[in-house]
Amino acid sequence: MQSYALVTGGSRGIGRAICVKLAAMGYPVLINYKGNRVAAEETASLVKAEGQEAVLLPFDVADKKEVEAVLGQWQENNKDCVIEVLINNAGIRQDALLAFMNDDQWHSVLDTSLQGMFNITKQLMNPMLMNRYGRIINIVSLSGLKGMPGQVNYSAAKAGMIGATKALAQEVAKRNITVNAIAPGFVKTDMTEELNEKELTSLIPMKRFGEAEEVADLAGFLASRQAGYITGQVISINGGLYT
Ligand code: NAP
Repeated sequence: MQSYALVTGGSRGIGRAICVKLAAMGYPVLINYKGNRVAAEETASLVKAEGQEAVLLPFDVADKKEVEAVLGQWQENNKDCVIEVLINNAGIRQDALLAFMNDDQWHSVLDTSLQGMFNITKQLMNPMLMNRYGRIINIVSLSGLKGMPGQVNYSAAKAGMIGATKALAQEVAKRNITVNAIAPGFVKTDMTEELNEKELTSLIPMKRFGEAEEVADLAGFLASRQAGYITGQVISINGGLYT
């Protein structure tokens, strides 16, 4: 049985760094993305440079039918393979104060992070249970722990993922499947490009934004066999920002 890792939102940023890390750990990687094929191909090259197979799987994590169709087809075509590492990383921001937030801003953020996590995890759950081994890592955020003004939608989506992480961890622990969340603070990616880094950095005890590779190293550890007794946890990686 060949084991694979699936990273949603693997084309850019934190997702890309996690794809490369998991490849370095010996996993062939299924790289999901929504629309940025050029970026996804760059990730695939980096995975291949680690000597691993890279498979591009474009779909919208928020679209349950599309998720079922694409992942179902892959599973059908690869009956001797199992996805044993799942990284629910795809996410977007649509910041606005609640007073000015429209329905689309609310739904698109919840649908990508929270509904997306449900769509993918549901599709992969039975094969993972039958495999009696698995690692699920949900990328959440400091916002989901602390709540951030201007991010009621994003904070709700990430807090929802944290609750789901803790509940699912207890459901599947006896099958050797761990479920954990990683909560980054500010990490240098496209998502944080337009933020005022200088101003925000002054609030961070480490006085810098994090690197995607630092988050990937943590994800790599949680995805490893050595992390087998850690489950239902939210691990922060934020330069000391949250106390
Ligand atoms: P990013 O650079 O903006 O990359 C987002 C990734 O998600 C891209 O690969 C994008 O694909 C994919 N994506 C977006 N919507 C999708 C959808 N509906 N279906 C499938 N893929 C989708 O973001 P990032 O900073 O790496 O963030 C990754 C995760 O970390 C997110 O969940 C984010 O909330 C979380 N996070 C980030 C920070 C930070 O400071 N950067 C802090 C805390 C938490 P395309 O390339 O095709 O658009």
